[in-house]
Amino acid sequence: MLFYDEGLKAALAKVFGDSLDQLLQSLLSPGQRYYLRVNTLKTAPELVIERLRSRGIEAYRDEELAEAIYIPVKGPYRLEPRDKLVIADKYAAESVYMGSHLYAPGVIWCSDSIERGDVVSVVTEKGLVVGEGNAVMSCRDMLKKRRGLAVEVTASVYRLPPIRSLPEYLEGLIYPQSLPAMYVARVLAPEPGELVIDTCAAPGGKTSHIVELARGRAFVIAFDHSIKRISNMLSELDRLGHSGFVDVWKADSRYLHTDFSWIKADKAVVDPPCTALGVRPKLFDAKTYADVLNASRYQIQFLRSAIKILKKGGVLVYSTCTLTAEENEEVVEKFIEEEVCVEPEPIDVRRGARGLSLYRYGYAYLRFHPHEHDVTGYFIAKLRKRC
Ligand code: SAH
Repeated sequence: MLFYDEGLKAALAKVFGDSLDQLLQSLLSPGQRYYLRVNTLKTAPELVIERLRSRGIEAYRDEELAEAIYIPVKGPYRLEPRDKLVIADKYAAESVYMGSHLYAPGVIWCSDSIERGDVVSVVTEKGLVVGEGNAVMSCRDMLKKRRGLAVEVTASVYRLPPIRSLPEYLEGLIYPQSLPAMYVARVLAPEPGELVIDTCAAPGGKTSHIVELARGRAFVIAFDHSIKRISNMLSELDRLGHSGFVDVWKADSRYLHTDFSWIKADKAVVDPPCTALGVRPKLFDAKTYADVLNASRYQIQFLRSAIKILKKGGVLVYSTCTLTAEENEEVVEKFIEEEVCVEPEPIDVRRGARGLSLYRYGYAYLRFHPHEHDVTGYFIAKLRKRC
């Protein structure tokens, strides 16, 4: 269920016109493809596909992006509620909806009588059944222990193999990432020997892709301000075998130009917090136009700082997983107006059926729309510092 105020709906209507309802509807379901990026420093896409298929997991190469593979998402399946219920929080419910198991920290409430081994339904706070399975602990323990597997999910509305327990995942051969997110590092096109900064980097999806595209031979500095997310990023980089190729620094990236004024980067990624309207599936989301405006005021600050530690001639890529013009084109256009030295740079990466190039400023922006391209909603802009 999506609770967006009139102002936000109007902002989306400005972009989507008559297809607004179609867009909102598409946010409730996942795309038909679940994408994984193959860690090309360790293996090759066809080898990962072969391994998955040998265990009966359907997987295919993307038609256009060499490092991208996908697993078809099955569903939706209809599940009837059981007598015993476990209510999961939004984050956990969205994972169970896609076939993940339920862990105790995600449990908000459960039927008192649940004992280990019982068959239970996993539901959202609004009562929507997202999955069912076997309780691995009693309700008492789910609420008291706050850790460990709570429900082993055997059926869910949408189905995928348990990605995070696959040996390929544990060996660091794959990184779950939406297809549009993979285009960010592709548009940046990092080269060996370059100094590349990622200003809002955790948990490291784009940073690790940059490492792979530069074959581990670029100097990469990843900044983030959240200790918790940085620690997550460090374990992800470790899993992928990339720890030696990235420096991870804690910083408020709105002030990189004062705290790290000595940096002169060749390339920068700014992937700041956003309203995440493009992320799907959403079981529940509540946002207002004020959230959009607040986000846009925050986002431009990262651009203002990043540009100051970029070399003359350097390239900056701005991206978000959201769909309003206020957080995308308008942030970039306002920034270009402010900074005389910044100009839009044509994007030479094209995307056919699953992504649309918007022909403004040449080809400086890429937009991905869930209802048109069956992907996560995304925006990518490329800029160059001219002087
Ligand atoms: N680029 C990441 C996702 C980034 S999400 C990836 O591809 O995996 C946005 C990130 O911005 C979050 O990790 C958040 O902690 C970080 N962030 C928010 N405000 C920040 C600030 N002022 N300084 C540095 N990082 C910030």
